[in-house]
Amino acid sequence: MARILVSKEKAKTPLRDLVGETSKLDQCLTCGTCAGGCPVADWEGMDPRKLVRMIHYGLDEQVIKSNWIWQCTNCQRCTWACPMGINFGEIITTARSLVPREETPGEIQKTANNHRETMNNMRLTVEDALETFNWMADELREEIPDFELPIDKEGAEFFCTINSKNVQYYPMDLQSIYKIFYAAGVDWTISSKWWEGTNYAMFTGDFDTWEYTLREQAKRVEELGCRVMAYTE
Ligand code: SF4
Ligand code: SF4
Repeated sequence: MARILVSKEKAKTPLRDLVGETSKLDQCLTCGTCAGGCPVADWEGMDPRKLVRMIHYGLDEQVIKSNWIWQCTNCQRCTWACPMGINFGEIITTARSLVPREETPGEIQKTANNHRETMNNMRLTVEDALETFNWMADELREEIPDFELPIDKEGAEFFCTINSKNVQYYPMDLQSIYKIFYAAGVDWTISSKWWEGTNYAMFTGDFDTWEYTLREQAKRVEELGCRVMAYTE
């Protein structure tokens, strides 16, 4: 087996510095418990324990270029299982953040950009979204005649977020959400803006877009004076 020589200087790498104290990397016992429950352990010969070792050795380049960091589902089984409380969510998201945006796989960064630019992942206009929200409410009234859809209701207790995929491709799912709020009898509203209920920037490690979209959504919640933001996913 090839030996890897690590000096103190080399060990100070961007990834190791970025994940910092909270990830508790230094406390790894190499017990392998994290790898035992990981659904993608051994995919391309990688697993969470190896990831921690590689970061220790300053192998940032290999980590960042590895397809494995994108196969991780961020399920956090490893974090919960780790006896030392090592935070894999932070480690993997930080590793992804160091990948050039144009090298992120598939469409996930494009989806995050859509969110930032258009307030939802599917690039739906305010008018198109409202048309679908109201269309589904109209249909629901055949079953629940007194159903009313609150849109931009100021002072409502619950601000309802929705996955834009449902609005675009599975609008009938909106009726399930409407029914739950109706049955619960709570004061709620859908917003005409910033109603997206998923955030792909969280998965791509695009911290700037993640923060921007969340702050805009929080601003909208405050504008309407809602007390609770409800994620329906
Ligand atoms: S479970 Fe925790 S302590 Fe054990 S190898 Fe994995 S990271 Fe290290
Ligand atoms: S968070 Fe990633 S590394 Fe940890 S168990 Fe889940 S898939 Fe494996």
